[in-house]
Amino acid sequence: MNRLTPFAAFALLLAGPALAQDNPMADVEIRAEQLAPGVAVLFGRGGNIGVSYGEDGTVLIDDQFAPLTARIQGAIGDLGADPVRFLINTHWHFDHSGGNENFGEAGALIMAHDNVRIRMTQGSEGRFTVPPAPPVGLPVITYHDGIKLHLNGDTVHVVHMHDGHTDGDSVIWWENANIVHMGDLFFNGGSFPFIDLESGGNVRGVVRAATRVIDMTNDRTQIIPGHGPMASRADLIAYRDMVANIVGQVEAAMADGRSLDEIKAMNVTADYADRDGGFISGEQFVETVHASLSQPEDEGHHHDEVSHSEHGNDEH
Ligand SMILES: [Zn+2]
Ligand SMILES: [Zn+2]
Repeated sequence: MNRLTPFAAFALLLAGPALAQDNPMADVEIRAEQLAPGVAVLFGRGGNIGVSYGEDGTVLIDDQFAPLTARIQGAIGDLGADPVRFLINTHWHFDHSGGNENFGEAGALIMAHDNVRIRMTQGSEGRFTVPPAPPVGLPVITYHDGIKLHLNGDTVHVVHMHDGHTDGDSVIWWENANIVHMGDLFFNGGSFPFIDLESGGNVRGVVRAATRVIDMTNDRTQIIPGHGPMASRADLIAYRDMVANIVGQVEAAMADGRSLDEIKAMNVTADYADRDGGFISGEQFVETVHASLSQPEDEGHHHDEVSHSEHGNDEH
């Protein structure tokens, strides 16, 4: 297999089989699934979208890719919802924020964690190039630990989970509807987790975030993963346990002085082979776990905004 970096493999996956077509998004349909009165999930291509709607206006959680905006707006209209008033990005990746410019121009107020705005302003170069976002596509309101929205008969908690999939992840929790959108802190099947070390991610943070969501939910909670079908709390527990198990095995092997090649030969992901064949293989995930554990331990107390000196691993 080609030794694609995770991010490059990810990009290829997103481009998908339609790579050769003039419009690679031409075949994408946006499918809505009603989760509760006033709450729905939209599946299309890229990250799953959450929608909250009602008399106080429509809130969108993530917006996939720019060519899909009109179709997403159509699906929102089909729900009987008004045009988007608030847009929240779970993190800065382009498969979750690609529609920001369109929705910003249409009048949506965009919100996200501080580091999302910083990374979108800077863009990224290197193994995968993301151009800086135009101002109209940037979050206008940013937060440090989180923010709450009081509308449509619910309290919508937006909670920052630091240094997990990236350093700007947020989880969205509808308190009354008992629904959680986890962004890419949760890949529900199909692949091993993608952790963007270049964007300040760390596998330890993914375990922490999953545990925090497990603690604040119950057996009736509906969970929207960043990718994959709807999930239950039991699915999230299994996911957290898988990640923690692999992390534990790699950590123990590192403590025994084993090299990365020796650890790869241990095949610590064998129990989860159903996730192989996705855009992050078991071997790539072990490399990511090893790199994460090679970083200094972070107990979750630092909350500085991103800087290249602090997260000095951009060229890994
Ligand atoms: Zn994603
Ligand atoms: Zn992502």
